[in-house]
Amino acid sequence: MHLYGWNLFFLVAFAVYITIRGVYERKTKGNEKVLRRVDALERALLVLVGLGSVLLPAVYLLTSWLSFADYRLPAFAPWCGAGVVAAALWLFWRSHSDLGRNWSVSLEVRKEHQLVTHGLYASVRHPMYAGILLWDLGQGLLLENWLAGWSALVTFTVMYLMRTPREERMMCEVFGAAYRDYMRETGRLLPRMNPAAAARQKS
Ligand code: SAH
Repeated sequence: MHLYGWNLFFLVAFAVYITIRGVYERKTKGNEKVLRRVDALERALLVLVGLGSVLLPAVYLLTSWLSFADYRLPAFAPWCGAGVVAAALWLFWRSHSDLGRNWSVSLEVRKEHQLVTHGLYASVRHPMYAGILLWDLGQGLLLENWLAGWSALVTFTVMYLMRTPREERMMCEVFGAAYRDYMRETGRLLPRMNPAAAARQKS
């Protein structure tokens, strides 16, 4: 059982994370899915991410089964972790809010799907994945256990690398030139360094 100190902060932040998801999941319910690209690889990646982000932290917090992988982080690490987690929650919330009824947990397109290019999406194509990667980094800085701390970052990085090109291909198929133009104007996780060059490339 590891329910003390910064682990409790992690737990409260996790409740906020799940609440944000829950609220927006309910909002997307009425928008029917018309295209699904959820194959065996995508399902396996979702399970892997679930293990790293939910199961291992839960086992670590509620039992002592993972104690063999406990270690001590320097005292400043959880303070950094708290800041990173706060930034992650903000990104997660804002990206959900910008995507609105177009969000899906997987590779799916909805009936009234609209290409979102405003808010965070005006400068980056994957702000939600950026938020999740930051969250995973924060998890590593808060939970002092090699497995429960870092498994989310490892599993989600694999998912990010496998999924993002497939997601962008799917969006190109559905939105055509509009998404290809959008790709030229935006960065994947960080805003493009040189918007003028992007504009030149476009003209
Ligand atoms: N990759 C994005 C969205 C994650 S949710 C991010 O990290 O912020 C995944 C789903 O969002 C995809 O299946 C796709 O249907 C949808 N999506 C991704 N980018 C979008 C965009 N710019 N506009 C509308 N829907 C988008």
